[in-house]
Amino acid sequence: MDVSVDIMSTKEICFMCNGNGFRTVHEDTTKTNVVLIQCLNCNSNGEAFILDREKHDKLKAEFERDYKPYLATLSDYVKQNKEKQN
Ligand SMILES: [Zn+2]
Repeated sequence: MDVSVDIMSTKEICFMCNGNGFRTVHEDTTKTNVVLIQCLNCNSNGEAFILDREKHDKLKAEFERDYKPYLATLSDYVKQNKEKQN
């Protein structure tokens, strides 16, 4: 098996930012302020090479189970900015 070809062909939409290249997070633990941050998982490309499928799938599963349900969403961010303008 040619490993280099295999690596080149495994590129996926980044699961952390859904291909946006940035993510929304709460600025601090008080969860009052939502901020945009660059996505480090894909270097803000929106797509990431999968170098280790097993490791990637494990990380993705953990992210979706332990972090995603608690993260601020883009709609939270939009809503917050609307409230600021009023
Ligand atoms: Zn990303």
